Amino acid sequence: MRRGALDPRGQRATMNGPPDPRQTMTRTAEQLKARIRTVPDWPQPGVQFRDITPILRDPASFRLVVTLLVARYQPRGIDLVAGIDARGFIFGAALAHELNRGFVPIRKKGKLPFTTISEDYALEYGAASLEIHTDAARPGDRVLLIDDLIATGGTLLAASQLIERLGARVVEAAAIVDLPDLGGSTRLRAAGIDTFTLLSFDGH
Ligand code: AMP
Repeated sequence: MRRGALDPRGQRATMNGPPDPRQTMTRTAEQLKARIRTVPDWPQPGVQFRDITPILRDPASFRLVVTLLVARYQPRGIDLVAGIDARGFIFGAALAHELNRGFVPIRKKGKLPFTTISEDYALEYGAASLEIHTDAARPGDRVLLIDDLIATGGTLLAASQLIERLGARVVEAAAIVDLPDLGGSTRLRAAGIDTFTLLSFDGH
C-alpha cells in the first residue's frame, strides 16, 4: 500500500510495516470519544457532563477500554485496583478481574459498612467526602486508582490520600476521560501522582 494511503480500517500505512502506533492510539481515542455523550447543563447549569454509558452499552468499546488498561497495567506489578464511586467501580472491577487482582471500592460518605477513614474534597460542582475501609489495603500494597473522568482532580487526589493513609502506594491514577482545561491531571502530576487517561475533551 502506498505511503499515506488509508487501509480498509482507516489507518494510514507506513512504508514498510504495520500502522504507526501513535496513529493507532489517536484513532482509538477518537473511536472511544465518539461513544461519549455530552449532556449540557447537567447536573447543573454550566456543566458539560461527559457521559460514558454509551461506551458501556457497546461491547466492542467497553472491551477496548479494558484491553487498553490491561495492556498498560499487566506489567506494572499492581496488587490492588481501587475504583471510585460509582463509575470507577465499573471499569475498575473489569480491570481487576482481568489482572487477577483484588478490587476495593472507594465510596461516597456513609456507604461502607465496616470501619472507615475519610477525606473531604471539592468537586467541579459542590463538595463531598470519600471513604475507604481500614482493611482495604495493606502497607506496601501497590494500588492502581481508577475513575471515569478527571475534572479538577479533587476526587482522585482525595482517593490517593486515603490509599497513602493506609500505608499503601498509588502506582498511577487512571481515567477514561481527561478535561485538561479544568487542571486536574496537571494538579495530580504536581502532587507526584502519575496520571493516565485514554482521551481528553477541551473545554469544561
Ligand atoms: P474532579 O474531582 O473535579 O476531578 O471530578 C471528577 C469526578 O466527578 C469523577 O468521579 C466524575 O465522574 C465526576 N465529574 C466531574 N465533572 C464531570 C463532567 N463534566 N462529566 C462527567 N463526570 C464528571
